[in-house]
Amino acid sequence: MTTFTQDFNTPVFKGKVSFPTGVFIDGQFSKGSTGKTIDIINPTNGKLIHKIDEGTEDDVNRAVKAAQKAFDTTWGLNAPGTVRAALLNKLATLMEANLDELAALEALDNGKTFAWAKGTDVSFAIGTIKYYAGWADKVMGSVIETDERKLAYTRHEPIGVVGQIIPWNFPLLMFAWKIGPALATGNTIIMKPSEFTPLTAIRMCSLIVEAGFPPGVVNVVTGYGQTVGNAISSHMDIEKVAFTGSTLVGRKVMESAAKSNLKAVTLELGGKSPNIIFDDCDLDQAAKWAAHGIFWNHGQACCAGSRIFVQEGIYDKFLAKFSEATKKIKVGDPFEEGVDQGPQVNKGQFDRIMEYIQSGKDQGATCYVGGERHGSEGYFISPTIFTDTRPDMRIVQEEIFGPVGVVIKFKDVDDVVKQANDTVYGLAAAVFSQNINTAIETAHRLKAGTAWINCVNQLHEQVPFGGFKQSGIGRELGEYALHNYTATKAVHVNLGHRQ
Ligand code: NAD
Repeated sequence: MTTFTQDFNTPVFKGKVSFPTGVFIDGQFSKGSTGKTIDIINPTNGKLIHKIDEGTEDDVNRAVKAAQKAFDTTWGLNAPGTVRAALLNKLATLMEANLDELAALEALDNGKTFAWAKGTDVSFAIGTIKYYAGWADKVMGSVIETDERKLAYTRHEPIGVVGQIIPWNFPLLMFAWKIGPALATGNTIIMKPSEFTPLTAIRMCSLIVEAGFPPGVVNVVTGYGQTVGNAISSHMDIEKVAFTGSTLVGRKVMESAAKSNLKAVTLELGGKSPNIIFDDCDLDQAAKWAAHGIFWNHGQACCAGSRIFVQEGIYDKFLAKFSEATKKIKVGDPFEEGVDQGPQVNKGQFDRIMEYIQSGKDQGATCYVGGERHGSEGYFISPTIFTDTRPDMRIVQEEIFGPVGVVIKFKDVDDVVKQANDTVYGLAAAVFSQNINTAIETAHRLKAGTAWINCVNQLHEQVPFGGFKQSGIGRELGEYALHNYTATKAVHVNLGHRQ
């Protein structure tokens, strides 16, 4: 166990933050089994923030034992819904009490602005925990009529020990989306945060202890994907794995699950979401939303509206307004007031995005706005717009996961639906039109798990979120997510028939 200590003296947050770190198993922090560490780097300046413990398969095995013991003794069917609800509510209250600190950690670790981290990530994470606290004592099956002499009913039982593997783009929010429904339904958890952004997950462990969750209910093993992540997805005693991350790794997780114990799998994967702007839209609104759609969270959003289709009648006007909105985005230190966009999360992502920008230029697209590094240190990229693309270009087909949008002209609704659906992904889509029929009919024709009309990036704890096609399996949030964490048992009672 080590202690993370940081003095923040920024325009938006001042204060000393200090908490224990390590792998968190059975309610306690300890060193990872090899004693090795992973450097956590500040994306704003490339400097070391902290060294966190590198967990291993041994740590996952220890965590699974602790989680199984908790499930059999203090949690699972031993903790009534009202108890689970009270603990989740307590956790949400503690997160509220530490809202600024959690936001500061997220901004430091991930590079997103403190204002967004506070107003969106942490606040939404708190809302999610509260929402699932509300469900904890309302998870129930039903009575099913068969014939008069028999009674049949269903129970929605917790699955048991579940594994959860999360990415770096919304570290605390993904943590909350995952633990909320799993704990509400009585499961115990082995969580693996991203090796790039583990700080808020580690901080949450202390809050989980303070809230009073029994030891072993939530275990957090920090470390790399190939070791800790793979140990989770291939573990014989983990009955379910929930993964959020790239489609490439999602495929590996599913493979490991199939090759081990056929554990249940839910996947929230990548996207290349279309944003469709019709001639009859409210142009000012469409341009502002489109900028938010692609540049929110520095383009590091699975649902980013990265392909912006614009009908030919308003193409030039839209491009002018969209460019204006893009140029207004203030890139800079995430802890400075008024900054909209901080650095990309790490050097690897920075290099990858710059390589995509170069490929767009090399393949003959026009780099209309941006297209270069911002500043001289850290991993900042200017918000970038490409035009004059072809459907086969990499910047049109592949998920860039950075502040890079392509603007594509279209003729009519059939043309745009065909182009919009021409992708292996199907996470989200947006439609801008003042004609309700056009808007709804188009939304229904798009192959996407979420369709926004005259808005983008709207996510609510009550509303399911997830992908069609290679964007995933299963739904997070809302009542739907509860199904990911329960096993349905049918009970048949014989009321009279004797053989
Ligand atoms: P990633 O797939 O590289 O990593 C995600 C997590 O998986 C990390 O914790 C990583 O350590 C772990 N991992 C890596 N290799 C593994 C393996 N072999 N076995 C098990 N686990 C392994 O993704 P990322 O770069 O952290 O995140 C970006 C991706 O996440 C993007 O593609 C984005 O679209 C996607 N994403 C999707 C959603 C959604 O809800 N659909 C939300 C956020 C992010």
